[in-house]
Amino acid sequence: MLAHTHIALGIATGLAIVHFTDTAAPSSVELVALILGSLAPDIDSSNSLIGKPGQMLERFLPKGPRKILDFCGGTITKSVNRIFGHRGFFHWSVLALGFIVFGLWFDRLWICWFGLGYLSHVIGDFFTPQGSPVFAPLYWKCVSGASIKTGSWSESFISILLWVYICWTGFGYLPGETQRWLNRYREIAHIELPETIQSETPEQ
Ligand SMILES: [Zn+2]
Repeated sequence: MLAHTHIALGIATGLAIVHFTDTAAPSSVELVALILGSLAPDIDSSNSLIGKPGQMLERFLPKGPRKILDFCGGTITKSVNRIFGHRGFFHWSVLALGFIVFGLWFDRLWICWFGLGYLSHVIGDFFTPQGSPVFAPLYWKCVSGASIKTGSWSESFISILLWVYICWTGFGYLPGETQRWLNRYREIAHIELPETIQSETPEQ
């Protein structure tokens, strides 16, 4: 699966949990943790986006620091890949569950959100032909539940559906600060937002 599909799956999973349970919407930090979690298992692949942090921060950093970050990221991913192999230990679903339990136990919700993103990645990979070791350590081999090839039209279609779901459902769950910025923008630009969004915008 491509990085943007993993991100979409991670955010959509988080949204579904917020939408269908009593869980509070994630804060900005928790949202970043969720997104990073949805990319983190591919730290065992030298081609992954998580191994190129400079590329992720392309719009925010000059070329020099980006190259240094990419070099560091590449060194880490290559080393992890050499030791654990791609879709090895770092793709174990129990690792994701471990983050969630750890976060709940020590009341660090951002770790829970990271673990949730992590779990969505492992489950996403389960639906590719290579599969993922979802039952490890009970059963070490990768198991596949479908054959959605990376970069295929079916993956693009699923990615579009997920982004549509995110835009459709997620607007009202944006972190408070983001809602405040949007509210400020609405006031400046004289834009009327739908009532549901206005009602969820925190008081200023
Ligand atoms: Zn993966």
